Amino acid sequence: MKAFRSMLDLLYPPKCAFCHRLLRGETVGICRKCREALPRTGAFAVRTDIRHIDRCAAPLFYEKTVRDSLHRYKFSQCVGYAGIYAELVLKCIDENQISCDSITWVPVSRRRLRLRGYDQSRLLAEEIAKKRGLPCVKTLEKVRHNRQQSLIRDPKARRENVKGVYRCDEPEAVRGKRLLLIDDIVTTGATLSECAKILCEAGAASVSAAAVARRRD
Ligand SMILES: [Zn+2]
Repeated sequence: MKAFRSMLDLLYPPKCAFCHRLLRGETVGICRKCREALPRTGAFAVRTDIRHIDRCAAPLFYEKTVRDSLHRYKFSQCVGYAGIYAELVLKCIDENQISCDSITWVPVSRRRLRLRGYDQSRLLAEEIAKKRGLPCVKTLEKVRHNRQQSLIRDPKARRENVKGVYRCDEPEAVRGKRLLLIDDIVTTGATLSECAKILCEAGAASVSAAAVARRRD
């Protein structure tokens, strides 16, 4: 196994998940420089202004190497980043005392899943759940393919664009539960809000949310 690992390292030398430079004998996933220089949200980690969501936490701001990293994660098959992001998210929710009974995620559409081969928020949710020893449950289905939220600027138009797009298929997994809803990036919070509304209507006791990164206001 060790020999296999070294061979893989030769073929695909491990790179920092953020700046993408080669890692030489450094801690796994993130280089020393990025560990110190990542745009951390710190005192601005938690938002409480998203309707239907108690609190939404994100450890990083969506800029520079974080944006590049999330882009590789979503569009270039860098699925190994899920474990690295999960550690950052867990530390952030712990620091901000967010707890839950189970973990769920904002799903991509079937069409997107077919094209990409994976659902990035699901992978992240599964890693977080595994590290925390909590159940990871599928609660939502994206039933309509909509315009990409990132292409729409107006907050009202973003809210309209996600209306009726998701459905809760698993009310038994939701009823009476304190859920943690995972997404990759929080921008205006329109998608999270719409998903949380559906989960609350299906009987969730509460919905908190967490993401890897948020926009700086
Ligand atoms: Zn780095």
